[in-house]
Amino acid sequence: MKKTTDTLIGFMNQYSTVADCLEYLTTKRFGDGEYCPHCGHKKVYKFSDGKTYKCASCRKKFNVKTGTIFEASKIALPTWFLAIYLLSSNKKGISSVQLAEQLGVTQKTAWFMDHRIRETYQQKKNKLDGDIEIDETYVGGKEKNKHANKKVSGTPGRSTKTKTPVVGVVQRNGEIRAERVENVDKETILRFLKKNLTENYTLIADEYRIYNGVADKRVNHSKGKYVIGNTHTNSIESFWALFKRGYIGIYHSISKKHLQSYLNEFVTRLDGNRSELSNFGKFAYAIENVNYRLTYERLING
Ligand SMILES: [Zn+2]
Repeated sequence: MKKTTDTLIGFMNQYSTVADCLEYLTTKRFGDGEYCPHCGHKKVYKFSDGKTYKCASCRKKFNVKTGTIFEASKIALPTWFLAIYLLSSNKKGISSVQLAEQLGVTQKTAWFMDHRIRETYQQKKNKLDGDIEIDETYVGGKEKNKHANKKVSGTPGRSTKTKTPVVGVVQRNGEIRAERVENVDKETILRFLKKNLTENYTLIADEYRIYNGVADKRVNHSKGKYVIGNTHTNSIESFWALFKRGYIGIYHSISKKHLQSYLNEFVTRLDGNRSELSNFGKFAYAIENVNYRLTYERLING
């Protein structure tokens, strides 16, 4: 059944005050017991203000926002919550221009918030197995090259001169991993597979020569037979298509430097069963992962 918080207005009603947001954040973060975000120690003291804690081990003070994307931010929590809700529930993401308009903050602020929220979208580290589709794609580059990205080896679509290559795998009906790479060569592919797959998999790839001797099954696009039984790469291709629709339609351009964090955003939204989650479920997932603090300096200087 749809919850009221699955609609934007229901969500805004529920999390309209700082107190409501703090309560939710505290439950999510310290629901299984309070701990020190500086050292992880579990014995902590709570001050009479009800918000400040002190660690019994490292003696440092903290609050529920310490070490999260909300730490040291002048933006009120309800505004943060709304931004996270919007970014999590929009399939193709939301640009800083749209976010600024909807939240009533400057575009610079919205841009920074967007990036901080994106930090919560880390790809999972567990290795995948079973039927795995692998494919690579090329992001960016000149407008005239965009339509040249045909799935035939040797075309300009495979060029890395103006585009940045990305390699991805999808476990059938399961999770996704995608990574920005410098080059698409066999060494890179093998390193990527080792990092992301167990040893128990069937790898399905297209006819691109780089997958020779690597993939177990091949799809021959050039003969027009895209799907032969179970041998297809439709899942990973759908992911690229959605990523590119977001990239072209929402974000317009993504620098090479930030490309990985956008990939993480799309993987997180569409990974496994997460795409089936309700709007509030997607928001809740992001809140569970707010322990990544991105400072403005690190965002700019990298
Ligand atoms: Zn501590």
